[in-house]
Amino acid sequence: MTAHAVESEGLATVIGLEVHVQLETDTKIFCGCSTEPAEKPNTNTCPVCLGLPGALPVVNEGAVEAAVKVGKAIDATIPAETTFHRKNYYYPDLPKNFQITQYDAPVCADGELEFTVEGQRHTVAIRRAHLEEDPGSLSHQGGSIDTAEYTLVDYNRAGTPLMEVVTEPDFRSPDEVRAFLAKLEEVLEYLGVFDATRDGSLRVDANLSIVDGSAVAEDGTVDDGVLEDANRTEVKNISSHKGAHGRPTCRRCAWPTGKSRSRSPSCPTHAASGSARSTA
Ligand SMILES: [Zn+2]
Repeated sequence: MTAHAVESEGLATVIGLEVHVQLETDTKIFCGCSTEPAEKPNTNTCPVCLGLPGALPVVNEGAVEAAVKVGKAIDATIPAETTFHRKNYYYPDLPKNFQITQYDAPVCADGELEFTVEGQRHTVAIRRAHLEEDPGSLSHQGGSIDTAEYTLVDYNRAGTPLMEVVTEPDFRSPDEVRAFLAKLEEVLEYLGVFDATRDGSLRVDANLSIVDGSAVAEDGTVDDGVLEDANRTEVKNISSHKGAHGRPTCRRCAWPTGKSRSRSPSCPTHAASGSARSTA
Protein backbone atom coordinates (compact mmCIF):
# COMPACT_ATOMS: atom_id res chain seq x y z
CA MET A 1 0.00 0.00 0.00
CA THR A 2 1.27 3.46 -0.83
CA ALA A 3 0.06 6.98 -0.14
CA HIS A 4 -0.26 10.11 -2.25
CA ALA A 5 1.59 13.30 -1.39
CA VAL A 6 1.67 16.97 -2.30
CA GLU A 7 5.16 18.47 -2.62
CA SER A 8 6.13 21.85 -1.24
CA GLU A 9 9.69 23.25 -1.08
CA GLY A 10 11.40 19.90 -0.83
CA LEU A 11 8.89 18.42 1.60
CA ALA A 12 5.72 16.53 0.85
CA THR A 13 2.52 16.19 2.86
CA VAL A 14 0.30 13.11 2.95
CA ILE A 15 -3.19 13.17 4.44
CA GLY A 16 -5.52 10.42 5.61
CA LEU A 17 -8.96 10.87 7.16
CA GLU A 18 -11.19 9.27 9.78
CA VAL A 19 -14.72 10.50 9.15
CA HIS A 20 -17.40 9.96 11.80
CA VAL A 21 -20.88 10.02 10.32
CA GLN A 22 -24.10 9.86 12.36
CA LEU A 23 -26.43 7.40 10.66
CA GLU A 24 -30.03 8.52 10.40
CA THR A 25 -32.12 5.99 12.36
CA ASP A 26 -35.24 6.49 14.48
CA THR A 27 -33.68 4.86 17.52
CA LYS A 28 -30.17 4.47 18.97
CA ILE A 29 -27.85 1.68 17.89
CA PHE A 30 -28.19 -0.59 20.95
CA CYS A 31 -31.50 0.49 22.60
CA GLY A 32 -34.93 1.84 21.74
CA CYS A 33 -34.30 5.47 22.79
CA SER A 34 -35.12 8.10 20.19
CA THR A 35 -32.30 9.79 18.25
CA GLU A 36 -34.39 12.93 17.75
CA PRO A 37 -32.97 16.04 19.41
CA ALA A 38 -34.74 16.49 22.75
CA GLU A 39 -35.69 19.78 24.37
CA LYS A 40 -34.32 18.72 27.74
CA PRO A 41 -30.97 17.04 28.41
CA ASN A 42 -30.86 13.43 29.61
CA THR A 43 -34.43 12.60 28.57
CA ASN A 44 -33.75 10.24 25.61
CA THR A 45 -32.00 7.74 27.86
CA CYS A 46 -32.54 4.27 29.32
CA PRO A 47 -30.53 1.71 31.35
CA VAL A 48 -28.74 0.52 28.16
CA CYS A 49 -27.39 3.86 26.93
CA LEU A 50 -26.72 5.01 30.49
CA GLY A 51 -24.70 1.83 31.06
CA LEU A 52 -26.59 0.74 34.18
CA PRO A 53 -25.59 -2.65 35.63
CA GLY A 54 -27.25 -5.63 33.96
CA ALA A 55 -28.45 -3.75 30.86
CA LEU A 56 -27.90 -5.65 27.61
CA PRO A 57 -27.42 -3.98 24.22
CA VAL A 58 -29.33 -5.29 21.16
CA VAL A 59 -28.08 -4.06 17.80
CA ASN A 60 -30.45 -1.90 15.73
CA GLU A 61 -31.14 -3.68 12.41
CA GLY A 62 -31.73 -0.31 10.74
CA ALA A 63 -28.21 0.86 11.62
CA VAL A 64 -26.67 -2.31 10.14
CA GLU A 65 -28.77 -1.91 6.97
CA ALA A 66 -27.66 1.70 6.63
CA ALA A 67 -24.01 0.66 7.06
CA VAL A 68 -24.34 -2.05 4.41
CA LYS A 69 -25.91 0.48 2.01
CA VAL A 70 -22.90 2.75 2.51
CA GLY A 71 -20.57 -0.23 2.00
CA LYS A 72 -22.23 -1.11 -1.32
CA ALA A 73 -22.03 2.52 -2.45
CA ILE A 74 -18.26 2.68 -1.81
CA ASP A 75 -17.72 -0.73 -3.42
CA ALA A 76 -16.54 -2.26 -0.14
CA THR A 77 -16.42 -5.90 0.87
CA ILE A 78 -19.31 -6.78 3.21
CA PRO A 79 -18.38 -9.82 5.31
CA ALA A 80 -20.87 -12.60 6.10
CA GLU A 81 -20.20 -12.02 9.80
CA THR A 82 -19.20 -8.92 11.70
CA THR A 83 -18.29 -8.46 15.35
CA PHE A 84 -18.60 -5.73 17.97
CA HIS A 85 -16.00 -5.07 20.67
CA ARG A 86 -15.71 -3.03 23.83
CA LYS A 87 -13.13 -0.25 23.69
CA ASN A 88 -12.47 0.47 27.35
CA TYR A 89 -11.67 4.00 28.42
CA TYR A 90 -12.95 6.40 31.01
CA TYR A 91 -14.41 9.73 29.99
CA PRO A 92 -17.38 11.59 31.52
CA ASP A 93 -19.40 11.47 28.30
CA LEU A 94 -19.21 7.66 28.26
CA PRO A 95 -21.15 6.41 31.28
CA LYS A 96 -20.37 2.74 30.65
CA ASN A 97 -16.58 3.33 30.68
CA PHE A 98 -16.41 1.53 27.34
CA GLN A 99 -17.55 2.26 23.80
CA ILE A 100 -19.12 -0.48 21.70
CA THR A 101 -17.25 -0.40 18.39
CA GLN A 102 -15.73 -2.75 15.81
CA TYR A 103 -12.08 -3.76 15.64
CA ASP A 104 -10.96 -6.71 13.54
CA ALA A 105 -14.23 -7.51 11.74
CA PRO A 106 -15.72 -4.22 10.47
CA VAL A 107 -19.00 -4.24 8.58
CA CYS A 108 -17.28 -2.74 5.48
CA ALA A 109 -13.67 -3.07 4.25
CA ASP A 110 -11.56 -2.24 1.20
CA GLY A 111 -13.78 0.32 -0.52
CA GLU A 112 -13.08 3.42 -2.57
CA LEU A 113 -14.67 6.73 -3.46
CA GLU A 114 -14.19 8.71 -6.65
CA PHE A 115 -14.51 12.48 -6.77
CA THR A 116 -13.52 15.40 -8.99
CA VAL A 117 -11.28 18.40 -8.34
CA GLU A 118 -11.17 21.05 -11.09
CA GLY A 119 -12.31 18.54 -13.68
CA GLN A 120 -9.75 15.91 -12.68
CA ARG A 121 -10.88 12.57 -11.29
CA HIS A 122 -9.38 11.21 -8.08
CA THR A 123 -9.96 7.94 -6.27
CA VAL A 124 -9.27 7.51 -2.56
CA ALA A 125 -9.09 4.03 -1.04
CA ILE A 126 -11.24 3.39 2.03
CA ARG A 127 -9.54 0.94 4.38
CA ARG A 128 -12.59 0.23 6.51
CA ALA A 129 -15.94 1.62 7.61
CA HIS A 130 -17.23 0.34 10.93
CA LEU A 131 -20.19 0.86 13.24
CA GLU A 132 -19.93 2.26 16.73
CA GLU A 133 -21.90 4.34 19.24
CA ASP A 134 -21.59 8.08 19.73
CA PRO A 135 -20.76 9.17 23.30
CA GLY A 136 -22.77 11.82 25.13
CA SER A 137 -21.93 15.51 24.87
CA LEU A 138 -20.18 17.76 27.35
CA SER A 139 -20.90 21.45 27.83
CA HIS A 140 -18.12 23.38 29.57
CA GLN A 141 -19.72 26.23 31.55
CA GLY A 142 -17.96 29.56 31.74
CA GLY A 143 -15.02 28.79 29.47
CA SER A 144 -13.10 26.08 27.65
CA ILE A 145 -12.26 22.61 28.92
CA ASP A 146 -9.28 24.16 30.73
CA THR A 147 -10.97 27.19 32.25
CA ALA A 148 -14.63 26.22 32.84
CA GLU A 149 -15.98 26.41 36.40
CA TYR A 150 -17.88 23.19 35.85
CA THR A 151 -19.08 20.92 33.04
CA LEU A 152 -22.58 19.63 32.25
CA VAL A 153 -23.11 16.27 30.56
CA ASP A 154 -26.03 15.29 28.34
CA TYR A 155 -26.50 11.61 27.46
CA ASN A 156 -29.22 12.19 24.84
CA ARG A 157 -26.58 11.65 22.12
CA ALA A 158 -25.03 8.60 23.83
CA GLY A 159 -25.74 5.55 21.66
CA THR A 160 -26.53 7.41 18.42
CA PRO A 161 -25.27 5.16 15.59
CA LEU A 162 -21.97 6.29 14.12
CA MET A 163 -20.14 5.00 11.09
CA GLU A 164 -16.39 5.64 11.09
CA VAL A 165 -14.98 5.78 7.57
CA VAL A 166 -11.18 5.36 7.55
CA THR A 167 -9.35 6.28 4.34
CA GLU A 168 -5.87 5.36 3.23
CA PRO A 169 -3.51 8.38 3.33
CA ASP A 170 -4.21 9.08 -0.35
CA PHE A 171 -4.94 12.82 -0.30
CA ARG A 172 -2.60 15.21 -2.07
CA SER A 173 -4.10 18.52 -0.96
CA PRO A 174 -6.76 20.16 1.25
CA ASP A 175 -8.80 20.74 -1.93
CA GLU A 176 -9.00 16.99 -2.40
CA VAL A 177 -10.05 16.53 1.24
CA ARG A 178 -12.86 19.04 0.80
CA ALA A 179 -14.04 17.49 -2.48
CA PHE A 180 -13.97 14.00 -0.94
CA LEU A 181 -16.06 15.09 2.06
CA ALA A 182 -18.59 16.80 -0.22
CA LYS A 183 -18.85 13.65 -2.34
CA LEU A 184 -19.18 11.40 0.71
CA GLU A 185 -21.96 13.60 2.08
CA GLU A 186 -23.70 13.52 -1.30
CA VAL A 187 -23.60 9.71 -1.36
CA LEU A 188 -24.84 9.42 2.24
CA GLU A 189 -27.73 11.80 1.59
CA TYR A 190 -28.67 9.99 -1.63
CA LEU A 191 -28.82 6.73 0.34
CA GLY A 192 -31.12 8.40 2.89
CA VAL A 193 -28.89 7.45 5.83
CA PHE A 194 -27.59 10.90 6.82
CA ASP A 195 -28.91 14.32 7.80
CA ALA A 196 -26.37 17.04 7.05
CA THR A 197 -28.45 19.64 8.88
CA ARG A 198 -28.00 17.91 12.24
CA ASP A 199 -25.35 19.54 14.39
CA GLY A 200 -22.16 17.46 14.53
CA SER A 201 -23.50 14.81 12.15
CA LEU A 202 -20.13 14.64 10.34
CA ARG A 203 -16.84 14.99 12.25
CA VAL A 204 -13.38 14.50 10.81
CA ASP A 205 -9.99 13.54 12.24
CA ALA A 206 -7.12 14.22 9.81
CA ASN A 207 -3.76 12.44 9.98
CA LEU A 208 -1.01 14.50 8.39
CA SER A 209 2.55 13.40 7.72
CA ILE A 210 5.55 15.19 6.25
CA VAL A 211 8.09 13.28 4.19
CA ASP A 212 11.10 14.33 2.16
CA GLY A 213 10.02 15.23 -1.38
CA SER A 214 12.60 12.80 -2.79
CA ALA A 215 10.62 9.94 -1.20
CA VAL A 216 7.67 10.70 -3.46
CA ALA A 217 7.51 8.50 -6.57
CA GLU A 218 6.70 9.91 -10.02
CA ASP A 219 3.06 8.87 -9.70
CA GLY A 220 2.81 10.78 -6.39
CA THR A 221 2.87 7.72 -4.11
CA VAL A 222 4.92 7.24 -0.93
CA ASP A 223 5.89 3.87 0.54
CA ASP A 224 4.38 2.82 3.88
CA GLY A 225 7.85 2.45 5.43
CA VAL A 226 8.65 6.10 4.70
CA LEU A 227 5.31 7.15 6.20
CA GLU A 228 5.92 5.19 9.39
CA ASP A 229 9.12 7.16 10.00
CA ALA A 230 7.58 10.50 9.04
CA ASN A 231 6.78 13.47 11.24
CA ARG A 232 3.05 13.05 11.89
CA THR A 233 0.25 14.91 13.60
CA GLU A 234 -3.46 14.28 14.07
CA VAL A 235 -6.04 17.08 13.95
CA LYS A 236 -9.17 15.87 15.74
CA ASN A 237 -12.85 16.78 15.63
CA ILE A 238 -13.03 19.01 12.60
CA SER A 239 -16.76 19.50 12.19
CA SER A 240 -17.11 21.02 8.72
CA HIS A 241 -15.69 20.85 5.19
CA LYS A 242 -14.44 24.39 5.64
CA GLY A 243 -12.65 23.29 8.80
CA ALA A 244 -11.06 20.31 7.05
CA HIS A 245 -9.99 22.51 4.16
CA GLY A 246 -8.99 25.59 6.08
CA ARG A 247 -6.77 24.40 8.93
CA PRO A 248 -3.95 26.93 9.12
CA THR A 249 -0.84 25.49 7.55
CA CYS A 250 2.86 26.29 7.57
CA ARG A 251 3.66 28.61 4.67
CA ARG A 252 6.65 26.48 3.75
CA CYS A 253 5.39 22.91 3.90
CA ALA A 254 1.60 22.85 4.41
CA TRP A 255 1.97 21.37 7.92
CA PRO A 256 -1.08 22.21 10.10
CA THR A 257 -0.17 24.79 12.74
CA GLY A 258 -3.02 24.41 15.23
CA LYS A 259 -5.72 26.92 16.05
CA SER A 260 -3.74 30.10 15.67
CA ARG A 261 -4.31 31.93 12.39
CA SER A 262 -1.25 34.11 12.58
CA ARG A 263 -0.14 35.95 9.46
CA SER A 264 2.95 33.79 9.02
CA PRO A 265 2.29 30.38 10.63
CA SER A 266 5.14 27.91 10.91
CA CYS A 267 5.16 24.19 11.61
CA PRO A 268 7.30 22.73 14.44
CA THR A 269 10.07 22.09 11.92
CA HIS A 270 10.25 25.54 10.36
CA ALA A 271 9.44 27.48 13.53
CA ALA A 272 12.28 25.85 15.44
CA SER A 273 15.12 25.70 12.97
CA GLY A 274 14.31 27.54 9.80
CA SER A 275 14.93 24.77 7.32
CA ALA A 276 15.76 21.64 9.34
CA ARG A 277 13.62 18.60 8.66
CA SER A 278 12.41 16.44 11.47
CA THR A 279 11.58 12.81 10.96
CA ALA A 280 10.77 12.11 14.59
ZN1 LIG B 1 -31.29 4.11 25.60
